[in-house]
Parts: sequence; C-alpha cells; structure tokens
Amino acid sequence: MYDVLIIGAGPAGLSAAVYLKRAMLSVAIIEKQPLSGGQILTSYNIENYLGFTQISGTELAEKFKKHAEAAGACFIFGEVLKINKNSVELHNGKTISAKAIIIASGASHRHLGIKGEKEFIGKGISYCATCDGAFFADKSVAVIGGGDAALENALYLSNICKRVTLIHRRKRLRAAEILAERFFSKPNTEFIPNDEAKEFCGDKKLTNIILKSGKTLAADGAFIAIGQSPQTKFISKDIKTNVNGYIITDNDCITSEDGIFAIGDVREKPCRQIITAAADGAVVSQSVLNYINSL
Ligand code: NAP
Repeated sequence: MYDVLIIGAGPAGLSAAVYLKRAMLSVAIIEKQPLSGGQILTSYNIENYLGFTQISGTELAEKFKKHAEAAGACFIFGEVLKINKNSVELHNGKTISAKAIIIASGASHRHLGIKGEKEFIGKGISYCATCDGAFFADKSVAVIGGGDAALENALYLSNICKRVTLIHRRKRLRAAEILAERFFSKPNTEFIPNDEAKEFCGDKKLTNIILKSGKTLAADGAFIAIGQSPQTKFISKDIKTNVNGYIITDNDCITSEDGIFAIGDVREKPCRQIITAAADGAVVSQSVLNYINSL
C-alpha cells in the first residue's frame, strides 16, 4: 500500500508528488499517456510561468517530470476505471491501494457537438494546433473560440498557414489582451465576431464551415478551442461536483469524500493556469499530511 496515489501527471499531480516525497511519504502517480504533462504538452509557448520568460509546453512538462522523478515518485502507466476509499482500479484489472488519493486528472477539450464535427476529426478538424498545425502548412484554417487557448492556437497557426480566421460567438474576446494584440497585428489573420459554426462540410476532408449567420467559410482545417470539461468519468457519485462536473473542494483541496483530494483543472476554481495547478500541489500536500497523521 502506498501512502499517496496521485491520478494524473500534469503540473498539479507532479507538484504534489514533489512536496509529498519531501515529506518522506511513498507516492505513486498514475498516468494514462506515455508522455507526462497533461494539457501543457499542447502549449507551444508558455510565457507566464514564473522563472521562464519563454518555454515550450513539452520542455516545461519534461522539467516537471524529471523533478518528480528526482524526488523519488513512482510512475504507474494505466487508466483509472474506478476509485474507492483506499484503492484505485485500473482498466487493465490491477488494483492499487493507498491511504490517500489525489485526483489530478485535469480536463479535456470540449466539443461543439454540431453536424460534421465527429465525421471530420482527423480529416480537417482538430483540437490542438501544436499537434496538428503542420498538416495545414500554406492552407486556410479557422479557429473557433475566444479564450486564451483559441488565441494561442490562432497565433501558432498564423506562422504556418496561409490564412487564419478566428470565429467567436461574441464581439469581445475572453483571451488576454496581449494575445489579442498579437493576433490582430498579423497580416494573415481575420476575425469573425458574433458568429458561430453551424455545420462542417466536405467530402473526404473538411472544405467549408457553414456559420449561423448563413455565411459559408472555405477552410481546409478547423481548430476548436472552446474550453474544457473535467476528466472525472471514474469518480463515484459520493464525490461532490458542480453543475459542470468540476470536483468541489475547500481551499485545502479536500473533497466531500474522506481521504480523497482534488487538485488542478479538475476541481472547481476561478483561475486555471499552470501556476495555480502547481500551487494546488503544495496546498494538498499539507492536507494529505494532516490526514495521514490523523489515521
Ligand atoms: P475559456 O477561457 O473557457 O474560453 C473558451 C472560449 O470558447 C470562450 O471564448 C467561449 O466564449 C467560447 N465557447 C465556449 N463554448 C462555446 C460554444 N459552444 N461555441 C462557441 N464558442 C464557445 O477556455 P480556454 O481558452 O480553453 O482556457 C481555459 C483556461 O486555461 C483559462 O483559464 C485560460 O486562461 C487558461 N489558459 C491559459 C493559457 C496561457 O495563459 N498561456 C493558455 C491556454 C489556456 P465566451 O467568451 O462567449 O464564453
């Protein structure tokens, strides 16, 4: 039995592992991807993590993982099926026991749920510019969304593609001003405000996007960046979540279930940044220590 089992090897989970190892606990991290890092792996340029004026998501993720490894955390490759009070069941049939469980499973890309979206995934539709942008060199693409992720995707694509059209359902962008400024200063970008994608069309590949306004936009690619949903398929009903499915915790990352904690993007919180995910790791380590000492 481990002292602590952490589900997810993103910034939150890895930070918690470093703190908990320093408290001399046995710590295992379960990660379903061969590459640790969670969502930061899809960020091509991070400029707001203290200490790094500019670093790629993969590079920062590697540094985080090496740090957790150096601290002595153990990594288990697998996907969680179910969590119980003192154990976690994996899809491969294994059960791993621990005194405390930390859910750090993050969030995944939301889908628009419109006609043609499913059909053209991998045939023009993508949720990650850094992963798939290279397939659209010198082509025309659209980015859907108005938050930081949409603008980051659009900026990345503007260096590769012939034309990048940002489609946002409102006039005002949600993204940081500095990202918006950079986007508007590019010669090959266009902004369609107050409109939404209604349908993706094409034959074998995406060719057009029909908008709610009735316009049709020719596009070889569409990158959808409309926010995330928490990855909580495996939690029981006893762990309280909000209406959007994010796990409710107190300020100390304690959930409604004894011995189960939640950190990072999977929990209800006002600010989802790498630095706030890493901060959760520090906060939860104190809560877990108090819990284990009370057993
Ligand atoms: P977000 O901030 O929630 O933005 C989602 C965007 O998609 C919003 O503009 C929203 O429109 C739009 N949207 C949502 N549902 C839609 C729908 N059905 N149809 C059309 N548009 C829709 O999500 P995010 O950009 O993924 O960012 C998530 C969190 O990560 C944020 O806290 C963000 O600051 C952070 N992040 C930070 C960085 C960075 O600092 N480098 C990079 C990426 C993400 P409305 O504006 O109208 O609601």
